[in-house]
Amino acid sequence: MSGDTSGGTGGTGGNAELTERWQGALMDNYGTPRLPLVRGAGAKLWDADGNEYLDFVSGIAVNSLGTAHPAVVEAVSAQIATLGHVSNLFVAEPPVALAERLLDLAGRPGRVYFSNSGTEAVEAAFKIGRLTGRTHMVGTEGGFHGRTMGALALTGQPGKQAGFGPLPGEVTHVPYGDADALRAAVTEDTALVIVEPVQGENGVVVPPEGYLAAAREITRSAGALLVLDEVQTGIGRTGHWFAAQAQGVEADVVTLAKGLGGGLPIGATLAFGPAAGLLTPGRHGSTFGGNPVACAAALAVLDVIESEGLLERVKGVGERLRDGIWRLGHPLVDHVRGAGLLLGMVLTEAVAPRVQQAAQAAGFLVNAVAPDVIRLAPPLVLGEAEADALLAALPAVLDAADPAAQPRRAG
Ligand code: PMP
Repeated sequence: MSGDTSGGTGGTGGNAELTERWQGALMDNYGTPRLPLVRGAGAKLWDADGNEYLDFVSGIAVNSLGTAHPAVVEAVSAQIATLGHVSNLFVAEPPVALAERLLDLAGRPGRVYFSNSGTEAVEAAFKIGRLTGRTHMVGTEGGFHGRTMGALALTGQPGKQAGFGPLPGEVTHVPYGDADALRAAVTEDTALVIVEPVQGENGVVVPPEGYLAAAREITRSAGALLVLDEVQTGIGRTGHWFAAQAQGVEADVVTLAKGLGGGLPIGATLAFGPAAGLLTPGRHGSTFGGNPVACAAALAVLDVIESEGLLERVKGVGERLRDGIWRLGHPLVDHVRGAGLLLGMVLTEAVAPRVQQAAQAAGFLVNAVAPDVIRLAPPLVLGEAEADALLAALPAVLDAADPAAQPRRAG
């Protein structure tokens, strides 16, 4: 989709210049090529050379309403023009309304702590765990909960922990989806068990049916807290407000971030029952937490999800994508897994980065979340026609990345 200059260059000198500048000024934390983007509208994005893309990444499951949704733009503009920030020495309407709304969606009374990111939402959950008086915690192998030290200790990816020890201690990681292993790891000193309803960063891994319910039962009988990390799965991503609601599981603590703010930084830690009373005054805080602008954006996101019936739409478009990919019958696709609009296209070979590159060249942004998994996490407003556009382009994209197809093409 090159040659369309309607995206403009956003005041930059184009892809090459912006790439050179970021490499000179930003830390290269990720070591992957980064496409310079300048502008977006809905599920469309434009790079600094004016190329247009359909967005199946959403800023990693963040831009739930796409880019520049009018409701978010209006809410943010109105709030920043009225009362942009108050700190934790004061309070304002948006964080109060957002907390009430989130508890309402959860369907039970509790308390909310606002921060600015997923890792901070988990960090607060970690501290709540410590305040139970117990120290041992249980996470899952492959689980991802963030990069600050407490969240990193709970993260079950040794590569991400390497070089940062000693981490806050006494965390046991058990195989994800294995209820027996979980039961064996939880003791009378276990403060909390943290689980993602679907492991996002580990390659969109879905646990067996009944796993979350088993985690609930195991933690309840041991007197440990169940923390559900819904940073990636929450707020409509799987076609439910909270992914765990689909299975009727109620956690003691739920962490949210990403899609909640529709592009603005916000994290939320929801605590229920006795867990809601542990962060007593003076225990924890954040200058920016509950920022009125971020909260106003989140309220707009919730309003639009509700008024436009996006939960149902996510289920429908998610199924359409999932079935459509499967029906392509491409030899490079082993299977598709996930829920709603959080899908993992599992490849028969470890060529996900090549698929990502080929998709980008064809005008589609997707994410190689693992060597053999492409993650699709488009905006929740993605339309059927946009899903179909990816389906139409996929065979050629997969061919271009398929080592087995190379001789065919060469011949
Ligand atoms: N928990 C989960 C489940 C996540 O997917 C992520 C981010 N990928 C985090 C926590 C950390 O969020 P953040 O990057 O906003 O700190």
